[in-house]
Amino acid sequence: MKTFIFGHTSQGLPILAHSFGPSPCQFLILGGVHGDEVEGVALAYGLVESFLEYFPYGIGVAVVPAFNLDGVLAKTRVNARDVDLNRNLPTKDWNPKAFNARYPPGPFANSEPENQALVSYIKQTPLKFILSLHSYHPMILVNGDCLKEAELMAKWTGYEVIEDIGYPTPGCLGTYAAHDFKIPTITYEIQKGQPIAEIINFHFPAVVELMKFLEGRYG
Ligand SMILES: [Zn+2]
Repeated sequence: MKTFIFGHTSQGLPILAHSFGPSPCQFLILGGVHGDEVEGVALAYGLVESFLEYFPYGIGVAVVPAFNLDGVLAKTRVNARDVDLNRNLPTKDWNPKAFNARYPPGPFANSEPENQALVSYIKQTPLKFILSLHSYHPMILVNGDCLKEAELMAKWTGYEVIEDIGYPTPGCLGTYAAHDFKIPTITYEIQKGQPIAEIINFHFPAVVELMKFLEGRYG
């Protein structure tokens, strides 16, 4: 494993990433894009521990367990500057208007240091796949060419696979990565409130299945 500084938050904290397997990484796993969705942070930390113990895959993966670290510490969806990082990416459809007051998109596209780090990582790394861990109603949201991957994960969890969330999400990672960069992206919504102690065992097999599939496809 190699640990590196993925970027910094607006309060100057380092956002750590842990990479495993062949370099360069082709697979990125993000936890804690929304700081109050701690279920995804828990799963990401569990993955780091599991990968430290055993990593048999022929595909490199980078795990960022707490992408919005300021938000995780403050238990807020938004970052320390009150911006929803998943509405702030420089997509073609970015919009200064908040479609929902809970999801402020920021003063301009890619205004936030966390997202600037993510954008530069995406531009510099030959990523083939992104898994972004959130929590809400259980679902696996597909952006780009990854329906098969979503269905494999769903087999383990019984989560519903969704191809359109049904409301506008300008500036979100799914749109930015999948549509602008052709990097298939799954937004994985863990059941909000699932006990932390259950999360790793419940979701780990689905991630293993995904790793094996990505290895076969890209490794
Ligand atoms: Zn979220």
